[in-house]
Amino acid sequence: MPDDTPFIVDLTKEFCFEAAHRLPRAPVDHKCFRLHGHSFRVQVTIRGQVNPQTGWLQDFGDLKAAFAPLVAELDHHYLNEISGLDNPTSENLARWIWQRLAPRLPLLSEVLIHETCTSRCVYRGPAATPEGRNP
Ligand SMILES: [Zn+2]
Repeated sequence: MPDDTPFIVDLTKEFCFEAAHRLPRAPVDHKCFRLHGHSFRVQVTIRGQVNPQTGWLQDFGDLKAAFAPLVAELDHHYLNEISGLDNPTSENLARWIWQRLAPRLPLLSEVLIHETCTSRCVYRGPAATPEGRNP
C-alpha cells in the first residue's frame, strides 16, 4: 500500500566554474587584494513538498537549465568586470546568483559557494533570518 503522507525534501545540484577576481575593498596588503583565481563550486538547493503522483519535487534538469546562463557568464571570466560584481566576495557572489536564479526557481532555498576547499558561504535569500531560516 503506497504511503501518501506529504513530505518535504531539499534537492541540490552542484555546478563548477573557474574565474579570476580580486577584492578591491580588502586592505592593500591582504592577499585577496591581488588578482588571483578560484575553482568555484556552487550548490543550488530547492525545498518543497514532493508531488505524490510523480515522487519528484522538481526535475534536476530544471536546476541545470536555470544555472546554465550563469555558468556562461562566470566561467573563465574576471568577476570584477561583470555587472553587479565589482566587489566579488563569496557573500556578494552568492547573493548575485540568488537574484538571477530566484525568478526561474520559485522553490530556491539556498545558494552555497565553495571558494576554496575549506571556505564557503551560504545565502538563503532576503527573507532569511539571522538564524538562517526562511519564514
Ligand atoms: Zn579569492
